[in-house]
Amino acid sequence: MKDYQILLYYCYTHIADPDAYREEHHLKCLELGLLGRIIIASEGLNGTVSGTEEGCRQYMEYVKADPRFEALEFKIEAHEGHAFQKLYVRVKPEIVHSSLKHVDPTKRTGKHLEPAEFKAMKDRDDVVVLDVRSNYEHQVGRFKNAVTIDMENFRDFPEKIKELDHLKGKKVLTYCTGGIKCEKASAFLIEQGFEDVYQLHGGIIKYGIEQGGEDFEGKCYVFDGRVIADVNKVNPSIISKCYVCGTLSDRMVNCANPVCNRHEPMCEACGDKMQGACSEECKCHPEKRPYDGTGAYPKELNGYDPYLHVKRS
Ligand SMILES: [Zn+2]
Ligand SMILES: [Zn+2]
Repeated sequence: MKDYQILLYYCYTHIADPDAYREEHHLKCLELGLLGRIIIASEGLNGTVSGTEEGCRQYMEYVKADPRFEALEFKIEAHEGHAFQKLYVRVKPEIVHSSLKHVDPTKRTGKHLEPAEFKAMKDRDDVVVLDVRSNYEHQVGRFKNAVTIDMENFRDFPEKIKELDHLKGKKVLTYCTGGIKCEKASAFLIEQGFEDVYQLHGGIIKYGIEQGGEDFEGKCYVFDGRVIADVNKVNPSIISKCYVCGTLSDRMVNCANPVCNRHEPMCEACGDKMQGACSEECKCHPEKRPYDGTGAYPKELNGYDPYLHVKRS
């Protein structure tokens, strides 16, 4: 029974006192029984949470009642139970670590395209679709014909953009998981002389909800307990290969050797044969964890305090 929901959302706005707002926001989440990760910065709010339908409804009402978050949109997905084990509400310098701290998407950013508009434009000759996510994300799923960037972390985006000079003059359509990375990425592209820049509003997740995910090949890497999510209900496919044997597989596994912990696709047969390890060496490692067929090793809840950083008594 999918009686829980996962909410994905962000908003670039001005938060004058992030520490005070963190406290208030954290208490609200505890009251509503939400779990997940929320980042608050002077530049805005970014979160993924899970909760009961009623808890999520009240949370959305609470956020939307605040005029600072007028532009915020929730991407809502149904889920069986919580998608997180813990709740973290943190204050950070940026809502996405980007090395683009100077960029303010509330002042200038690429033109937002709704999923239907993106779908209508993406295959045109004068258009290039640019995936602004990292290797581990686009290797399991990406839009058909998308240009991907070889980067381990979004922080490397400004450096990597130098390799995209040949795309100047085209209409560039950027996309990411939920739309947040595109806000700064598209603004930075404009700053670097790309003239006609657009971004998929709400990202792959909203495109999946509203357009059935058509032409999104593979699965969407997500930052909750699901690891990867099905977004394409129109023409789904698998594009990632088993790290061990090379057959098509989108089953994401953490290597059973905790020292390695490599996060790669691994087919079911190799998972059994290798006991969840990515190599013979890892299979024989003295600290190797027992393989239960999932390849997921939830972090210990030891020492987790839901009231961490809460000051009020
Ligand atoms: Zn395999
Ligand atoms: Zn390994």
